[in-house]
Amino acid sequence: MSSAPMPALPPEVAAAVQRAELPDFARWHEMIKSAGGCEQPIRLRGERLTVDGETGELIESYSTDDEPTGYLITACGNRRASRCAACAEVYRDDTYHLIISGLTGGKGVDEQVSGHPRVFLTLTAPSFGAVHAHRERGGKVQPCRPRRDDPLCQHGRAEGCRRRHAADDAMLGQPICEDCYDYQRAVLWNAHAPELWRRLTLAVPRWLTAELGITHKALRAQARISYARVIEYQRRGLIHFHAVVRLDGPDGPEQPPPAWASSSLLERALRAAVSEVSVPIPAPDGQSQPEEVRWGRQVDVQAIQVAAQLDGIADKHVARYIAKYATKGAEDSGTVDRPIRFPSQIRTLKVSEHARRMIWACFALADQPEYGDLRLRNWAHMLGYGGHFSSKSRRYSVTLTQLREARAEFAAQAARQAEGLPEPDPNRNVVSTGRWKYAGSGLLHGEHFWAEQARDRIQKARRVRQSITERDQQRKAS
Ligand SMILES: [Zn+2]
Ligand SMILES: [Zn+2]
Ligand SMILES: [Zn+2]
Repeated sequence: MSSAPMPALPPEVAAAVQRAELPDFARWHEMIKSAGGCEQPIRLRGERLTVDGETGELIESYSTDDEPTGYLITACGNRRASRCAACAEVYRDDTYHLIISGLTGGKGVDEQVSGHPRVFLTLTAPSFGAVHAHRERGGKVQPCRPRRDDPLCQHGRAEGCRRRHAADDAMLGQPICEDCYDYQRAVLWNAHAPELWRRLTLAVPRWLTAELGITHKALRAQARISYARVIEYQRRGLIHFHAVVRLDGPDGPEQPPPAWASSSLLERALRAAVSEVSVPIPAPDGQSQPEEVRWGRQVDVQAIQVAAQLDGIADKHVARYIAKYATKGAEDSGTVDRPIRFPSQIRTLKVSEHARRMIWACFALADQPEYGDLRLRNWAHMLGYGGHFSSKSRRYSVTLTQLREARAEFAAQAARQAEGLPEPDPNRNVVSTGRWKYAGSGLLHGEHFWAEQARDRIQKARRVRQSITERDQQRKAS
């Protein structure tokens, strides 16, 4: 007698079943759940000793030798959604809280901060050549770049474009003529953007002192300017800056701003500073005349209102917007998310033609000694930009580290309660020491299924939590 054959399982499910049969599975599963279903978890070996700092008494000892797995798992913590969806989601949440607490208070920031003048600033790059664009007027898609008499450029191509591009057209942001487009100045702009931002943060207080007729010292004694900013890659491969800029009292959000402070004054200061600042650079074509890197003419400054008022934009909208960009890389501009080592790789990269030319321009300029400091080879995959994706001034709000510590403390407390352990004695001087060694990273055979399942559950729980919070807030507001 022969029994009917078992229907074949999809290979990843079969592998998941195999993994679940191994003796260390229960503990491994627990670890991957607490790592949020991280896609690139890090395995660590080592030990931790907790002793009483005064008596030297051993309170707790832990060693991965005692774990069924033989190792401990920790999340990769990568910010980028293209690398690890689970960790990027945590980062996005943290960024949201960081931004919103600087606008409405909470997480240790005084709630009176919501009354301080603050604006949402968007800065752009200048144009380095015509690109295909999606235009809409009155809900109707308009022609991209109509030109009377259809003139041709020096390369014999049409200078205009009469197509009506959809909002998701792959041509958007791509140059109308790649040979006319100024790739060298485009990547030099990206490369100097961090310095341009730094000069802007210095120019704003300078403008205020001139406007108010007071010294720098007097300004510092009366007010402080705080900001939090992210960058966003546009399809044309150039970056935008989005920032919350706020005026506080001299020590930050806990102190009321001076009587002269207002959103409109802050807006005027920002607009004046944006048009004034520049960074001198040597010309890329080796001419003797140095050039200047400047902000693009499109500058947007909007007052940020508490929740939903009519003028300006709402604080939550701003926080969500910034958090969204915090987990992105340059991928949206059609480039790759890892450094490029050799020029020989460029030809075969899976990138848009526009991004490939920007990458080429980075390698070409990197060989010119006057641009050596920009390290353009290292940042070629970022199309020249070598700065941070997000940054904030010291007194904007909480830090990401503070949020992470709060989360770790919450998890430790939950674990203590689950195991019926006593709360730590706050009067006891406890010292922890650990020795950890890296033992590999990534998911092994059969583990992807379980990590994904953990990730799904956490996402669902997060969504439920968000909708409850939003409902509560609406109820409070009405
Ligand atoms: Zn991760
Ligand atoms: Zn077009
Ligand atoms: Zn041309």
